[in-house]
Amino acid sequence: MSRPAGATAGPPRGTRLDPWLAQYSARATGMRPSEIRSLFSVASRPEVVSLAGGMPYVPALPLAEIADLMARLVAEQGAVSLQYGSGQGRVDLREQIIDVVALQGITAHPDDVIVTAGSQMALDLLARIFINPGDVVCVESPSYVGALGAFSSYEASIVHIPGDEDGMDPVALASAIADCRARGQSVKAVYTVPTFQNPSGATMGAARRADILAVAQQAGVLVIEDDPYALLDFDGALHPAIRSLDEEGVVYLGSFSKTVAPGLRVGWAVAPHGIRERLVLAAESAILCPPAITQMAIGEYLRHTPWLDTVKQLRELYRCRRDALVRTMAETMPAGVRWNTPEGGFYSWVSLPEGLDSRALLPRAIAALVAFVPGTGFYADGQGASQLRLSFCYPTPEEITEGVRRLAGVVRDEVELWRMFQQ
Ligand code: PMP
Repeated sequence: MSRPAGATAGPPRGTRLDPWLAQYSARATGMRPSEIRSLFSVASRPEVVSLAGGMPYVPALPLAEIADLMARLVAEQGAVSLQYGSGQGRVDLREQIIDVVALQGITAHPDDVIVTAGSQMALDLLARIFINPGDVVCVESPSYVGALGAFSSYEASIVHIPGDEDGMDPVALASAIADCRARGQSVKAVYTVPTFQNPSGATMGAARRADILAVAQQAGVLVIEDDPYALLDFDGALHPAIRSLDEEGVVYLGSFSKTVAPGLRVGWAVAPHGIRERLVLAAESAILCPPAITQMAIGEYLRHTPWLDTVKQLRELYRCRRDALVRTMAETMPAGVRWNTPEGGFYSWVSLPEGLDSRALLPRAIAALVAFVPGTGFYADGQGASQLRLSFCYPTPEEITEGVRRLAGVVRDEVELWRMFQQ
């Protein structure tokens, strides 16, 4: 094979240095591995308690029933389940998705829905159809790492809007939009995860949702509402979506990853007509169509199993794990460490005492056999060094208790060291 043009003076053949480096697009050059992904290999060693990845506890699913329905889909409906399908997704599944989003107060028509290979794909498609290099997306502080990656890979300029326990601050949002416009930037979207946010665990109340929407409407900016944890409220409460207040100005993203199984890769977007049409065109160029077999598997699962009862059991399981996490934090963490008690979802957000850096803490934590994600992974601008995310979805309560004890030991040692250096 000949060398790529322009790579003649590149690294010698046979090394692991990439001879194509000069050829990548500006977009690809800006792509970075997420801090979470690079952690996965160490954190998945069995002796490490991983409070890092946000993996749903799939062993709690009715696995035998799922195996059975998948086998039947191939044996009895293979001519359809193994075939190409519509770029927008199967109409029968889109009808079922209408019933799922109705739980969040959304009224929609199956034609408003596009099925995607997970909601991550919908984020990528939205970035693809809206973002020119330098366009602004306003996001929460902190924000979901996968969305930051999708927006950055289309060279968006990401602006973190400060907030509080109730989510993004509407006044700060309005002034950030005005500032960006004064600098001549085009503000394309406000991105929010309003319910049990990844990574902070925070949930926007109803009034805050309406306020954020009002600011976006006033400014003529699209809202991207990413809501994969909506059904995971530990008390079974439902949180009406921002989309339920405005059908024209909000794209609503959902997923079966947290309530059924992420390995099936079935998510969706509910979008205003024009946006939905462009999303389908972009999806066709990316993957032609979402996989028929996993769409049909979700359809059968929703139709033939008591799936909302299973979600209720999952909520109960996650609630016990959340309790183990916050109880052990209270028992073991030194003064100055703060964390929240999320009412649902997978994550708690932790602030470290003065002087501690979560990135420097991580190798020591891993040496002590516990993993977390440093807060910097959830910011596009280097913030978050004094924070970290703990996820409580996958390990058992006993493992969580042990993991938090190990982490508390590491934090205590670091606090001691910092004090010594201050003297
Ligand atoms: N949005 C948020 C806020 C998430 O936490 C995740 C998964 N970690 C996704 C989107 C993507 O999920 P999926 O592609 O599996 O639907």
